Amino acid sequence: MYQAIAAYASNHGVTLVAVSKTRSIEELMPLYQEGQRVFGENRVQELLTKYEGMPKDIQWHLIGHLQSNKVKYIAPFIHTIHSVDSVSLLETIQREAEKYQRKIRVLLQFHIAEEETKFGLNEEEGIALVEKIQSSPLPNIEVAGVMGMATLTDNKEKIRREFVHLKRIFSRLEKEYFPEQASFCEISMGMSGDYEIAAEEGATIIRVGSALFV
Ligand SMILES: *Cc1c(COP(=O)(O)O)cnc(C)c1O
Repeated sequence: MYQAIAAYASNHGVTLVAVSKTRSIEELMPLYQEGQRVFGENRVQELLTKYEGMPKDIQWHLIGHLQSNKVKYIAPFIHTIHSVDSVSLLETIQREAEKYQRKIRVLLQFHIAEEETKFGLNEEEGIALVEKIQSSPLPNIEVAGVMGMATLTDNKEKIRREFVHLKRIFSRLEKEYFPEQASFCEISMGMSGDYEIAAEEGATIIRVGSALFV
């Protein structure tokens, strides 16, 4: 399904992050050969293995939870980190990015699903985080938008409501905290089961894994 999903993304003007977790480099190279250059992993160790074994013009995205003590391993090359949900993690990313004189793009992860999880901000926490970083600039970080995961359910209307909620959070942050900042522009939402709903509701990045390989 890779070609169909890549065409869908391109026709809808959204970036496809090909989620490569659990797949071998041999399984991933055909996608690269078809032109895919943006890949996403949710674990640091696996990301490092793929980064080392695959061509160097790939943009790597970290989409899963990131522990502060692992930031140093990915700081030299990571393009975008989708899973930032604390000031202390941002400060660590700032410190490590500075060492390599790089700018790392980050997305703020919001908890929009019904399932309990310790990861992701609610709207108020997100506002508090953004207010905090506005008072202490992080020159090696580009806060580029938001990320979220919908509830795992067949209820399409519920999924749609959750994506609408994330879009509303994005719009509020954009208007109140990032006006005239063109770099605050990304809404990362939608996976194999729900990327079409996400694109309809304003996703600019979809993160698709399993559906690419069927
Ligand atoms: C695994 C994963 C995806 C992709 O999930 P699929 O259902 O395989 O498309 C997207 N986002 C995150 C954060 C993931 O961990």
